[in-house]
Amino acid sequence: QQQQQQQEERLLKVLVIGDLGVGKTSVIKRYVHQVFSQHYQATIGVDFALKVLKWDHQTVVRLQLWDIAGQERYGNMTRVYYREAVGALVVFDMTRLSTFQAVIRWKGDLDSKVALGNGRPVPAVLLANKCDQRGQGLCSKLPKLESFSKEHGFMGWYETSAKDDTNIDAAITCLVESIMAVEAELTVAAGNDVVSGQPDSGVLVLPRLQHYDAQERELPGCNGCPSLRPKRRHAK
Ligand code: GDP
Ligand code: MG
Repeated sequence: QQQQQQQEERLLKVLVIGDLGVGKTSVIKRYVHQVFSQHYQATIGVDFALKVLKWDHQTVVRLQLWDIAGQERYGNMTRVYYREAVGALVVFDMTRLSTFQAVIRWKGDLDSKVALGNGRPVPAVLLANKCDQRGQGLCSKLPKLESFSKEHGFMGWYETSAKDDTNIDAAITCLVESIMAVEAELTVAAGNDVVSGQPDSGVLVLPRLQHYDAQERELPGCNGCPSLRPKRRHAK
């Protein structure tokens, strides 16, 4: 019985990056609190929100979403911000071409400042946000996102709307699936050697949790993710 209750907890630091005003804060608020507002304060600094996911019978994922505010205009962040991140959402605004062009810069900044234990880039998913405004602006000038996202090493891409709650869940689920799959590969590659698997993998295994009170839900699975089939960890 004790065996059954044994739970492993994984803390995943996930960065949400992209130009000012693309909807980073809105995506996080929608995902974590199920709300949307026209006005989010561009508070200066780094903020983070936590979402607790039941991954499988023995694993709880604590997803830490790191928001940024104020520094986006420079198109890069400090190494301290990127430190120990295991994944990223790169967001642009479908109605503003300049924010799409900035995606390459953000992805480059990410890859130059953080990597997984074996030197692989951290999984990243591309969000074409504000798809509720599809008819407006420059959407029609966007290149094919499928080839773009492959070319630039994204695990997947989604047209999202924080306003209408379109694909926010799917996109973040895709990212978590990718992170967990990569992490499982790393563990296998390390021969399940706990010492060599830590702490460079960036996945922190925390002591067993007695209870947790943040929002909790089942993962719906990674349906929409174009480039990855879910690889779930199963209880032994
Ligand atoms: P951030 O600077 O990247 O954090 O962007 P915010 O989350 O503050 O959003 C900037 C503006 O875009 C705000 O007025 C939001 O209400 C709006 N916004 C964010 N996401 C969406 C969306 O999906 N659709 C629409 N129509 N507006 C959005
Ligand atoms: Mg913001």
